Formats: sequence, C-alpha cells, structure tokens
Amino acid sequence: MSNILTTRYAPSPTGRMHLGNARTALFSYLLARGRGGRFVLRVEDTDEQRGSEAHLTSQLEDLGWLGLDWDAGPGSEDALGPYRQSERGALYDEHYARLGAAGRTYPCYCSAAELEVSRRTQLAGSLPPRYAGTCRSLTEAQRARHEAAGRRPTLRFRVPAGKRVEFDDLVRGPQEFSSDDIGDFVIRRADGVPMFFFCNVLDDSLMRVSHVLRGEDHLTNTPRQLMLLEALGLARPEYGHLPMLLGPDGAPLSKRRGSVSVGDLRDAGYLPAAVTNYLLRLGHAGAPDEWIDPADQPGAFLLERVGRAPAHFDEVQLQHWQREAVKRLDGQALQDWLAPVLPATLRPAERRLLGLTVSHNVVFPVDALPWVDVLFGELPSLQADLRELVDRAGPEFFAAALDSLAVTGPDLPALARELKQRTGRKGAGLFMPLRIALTGRRDGPELGPLLAALPQATIHRRFSALAARPQGKD
Ligand code: GLU
Ligand code: ZN
Repeated sequence: MSNILTTRYAPSPTGRMHLGNARTALFSYLLARGRGGRFVLRVEDTDEQRGSEAHLTSQLEDLGWLGLDWDAGPGSEDALGPYRQSERGALYDEHYARLGAAGRTYPCYCSAAELEVSRRTQLAGSLPPRYAGTCRSLTEAQRARHEAAGRRPTLRFRVPAGKRVEFDDLVRGPQEFSSDDIGDFVIRRADGVPMFFFCNVLDDSLMRVSHVLRGEDHLTNTPRQLMLLEALGLARPEYGHLPMLLGPDGAPLSKRRGSVSVGDLRDAGYLPAAVTNYLLRLGHAGAPDEWIDPADQPGAFLLERVGRAPAHFDEVQLQHWQREAVKRLDGQALQDWLAPVLPATLRPAERRLLGLTVSHNVVFPVDALPWVDVLFGELPSLQADLRELVDRAGPEFFAAALDSLAVTGPDLPALARELKQRTGRKGAGLFMPLRIALTGRRDGPELGPLLAALPQATIHRRFSALAARPQGKD
C-alpha cells in the first residue's frame, strides 16, 4: 500500500458540496484512477459546531452521484483508518505528546482580546500581524499563575527561526516561504479541539496520501503544515493548489454562501456525466473537445495541464455538456430521468415513444412536457409567426397532405415526394408547414421518426384541421 499513488478528498461537513469542491474531488479521483492509484475519503469533522451529520450524508450522496467511488473511507475502513477525524482523537493526542516531548509546543494563555490588541498594534506599525510570542518562554511559575486564574491555554507550535520552507507545487511550480514570516500558530484550541492545520496534514501523512490536490485558498497553510511534518519526522505529500472556481459575479463559489451546489444541479435535472464533462475542462486543458464517457475520463486527465488561472462557472458550457449527456441516455436511464415530471397516466409504450422523440431536443426533464401534448394530446393554438407560415402554404396544401398520406402512409420521404408532385412545394416550403401542422412548433425532433410514431388518427386530425381552416383564422 505504501508506494501507491494515493489521493484523497477531505470534505468538511459544514454545508452542501459546491462545484469548486466537486472539481477538487473529481481531479483527485481522476489522478488516482488514471495512474492505478488509490482514492480515499477523509471526513474532516472535528469542528462539531459547524459540522452536521446531514451535511455529511448529502456530501457523500453527491460524491456517489458523481460516480467518484472511494477505495477507503467512512464505512469502508482499512488499516489506515479510521477515516473520520472525529474518531482519530487518540492519534492526535499521541502526536501532540510527541511534539511536546521534543519541545516544539507550548501553552498559550493569551485571550482573544489580548491577541486582537497585539494584532492592531502590529498593523499600526505596518508590520504583518503574527503571534508576538508572548507565551513562548513563560516560566513554570507564570504558567501556574495563569492556570490558577482559570485560564485555559491553546497549544502553539514553536516555529523555528530563520528557516526556508520550500516545495514544488504540482500546479504552481516552486514555492518558497520564510519561517520568519510565520508566527507560532495554534494547533489545539483551548477547549481541546484540534485545529484544522494539524489534523489535516497529520492525516495526509499517516494515511499515506502522496498527492494532495486542493483549493488555492489553502496555499498559505502549506508551509505551516510542512513544518509540522518536519518536526514529527513524517513523510510529506506533494501538493497541487487548484485555482479558485469563481461564480458569475467573480466571487469564489463557496459552500457557505450557498451558491451553485452539486445538489442544486441534480435537483434541476443535470446528469452526473454532464457535470463531470464540464468540470474536467475547468482549468484543465488536457481534455479533447469531444464528449468523454466517465469510464474514459481518468485517461483524459493530465495533471500537468491543470492551469493557474481562475476558472469561471459558465452555465452555457454546462448546458452544452448536458445536451450531450441527454443524447447518450438510453432505454431505462432515459425513462428514469424523465419520470419525475411526466404525468402518471402515461403508459410505458408512450413513455418510450416520448423518450425517443425528445432525447435530442431537451436539456431538462421538464422540457419534455410540451411533447407529451404533441404526441398524445391536443396542440395549443398556433403562435402568430407560425400561423403566417401555415397561411402561406394554404388549406389546399394540407388537403394535399391528407391525400398524399392516404397514398403513402406515414413514410416521410414517400409522403414528401407525393406532396411535392401535388403542390410544387419543396425544401423548407414543404417541410416547415408539415412540421408546424404536426407539432405546433418550428423546431424539434426529426420529422421522419415523429411521423412514424404519431398515431394515424392524430396526423389525420392535425392535417384536416388546417385543410379546413379559413385563411387568417386559427
Ligand atoms: N476540509 C478541508 C476543506 O474542505 C480540506 C482541505 C484540504 O483539502 O486540504 O477545505
Ligand atoms: Zn500567548
């Protein structure tokens, strides 16, 4: 297990999964699957106040819906688990103890108010604010006095002076930080809850994660985390920080602002393969322009083609992939997708016919509803521009269509030939009025299959209505 490329997705269950997180998860998944590696799921649920079991459930559902199955995680534990941070307290304690024994930590008794005063003083003196080191060298007696006064300390990591922290970011290239710019930081809160920095990096190392892909917003955490690993003598993963995914307003898509979430897309009728085809191209230039089936996506993901520019959420692009995904739905999958919006009275054969008719013409299931009437009900009265086209053809055109139909049956090429002979019309001048008569619309599915699919009586009724219709009326 140890040398296998391992990636992870590490959700905090503090909200719904938004698209930025879904992209991080997808890229991590594809990197592992494309290189025969492992993909693990770690739940970062130490912050009980913000997290909730319901959010966790919904995020796991979203991952499953996207098709990102994990090799190990909550519910599928292995020797490197448990995979929920809330169950890893003993491991964290053990490593706090190791850092303490090596003299790398100290208790800090500063109150929030005291820290704020210090921060403001530094800012006023044009210094970058960082922990002033107040509690760095407290004597035993001073500590005892704080304890006696009932103060509960946080635990701070002692940042070594004058060190360079370097790493080669998988996306952004060489990075260099100076430890002197980083104040001693808190790794355990006063109430005993471990800080994000600490558990996150410790778990990555202990779970033998080799490649961490995560949002650029975590870039400044990385030097702190690398210092922690170094102090513990633990192996470090490689990091790739992905550019932010920005909303249409230019602000980062953030789960806390509740903007575009995976759940919203699913509720709207988006298909998971449409979402992954879309995300695969967000800030990643490795994929060809054509549709890529989910099974082939790992082979199309190239880490070295992930770019540094922020990506923008673009619903037009997403809908493009949705159309492609809908086209590829077949049989039962198409039925299942449409089912929630269709009238319960529709029979199975009608459902199948509807599916065949609309699959190249709808983006969302609701878009299929008008076609229920086209196929099985009454057409609404024609809109003005369509009425004009029908008038231009004239009642005699539709009378001829009726006669032709009697000769040829519902075979479009034959019907068109017959009708052309009778009326002299051809091309759009022939097909457009036919389409309007049959569907009440100027666009839609291919006319041939539709003509073959419609009940004869319906075709008859629709042609007759226009053949009998006085000019200019509907
Ligand atoms: N739980 C963190 C988050 O959701 C994970 C950060 C990381 O991937 O390292 O932002
Ligand atoms: Zn302090």
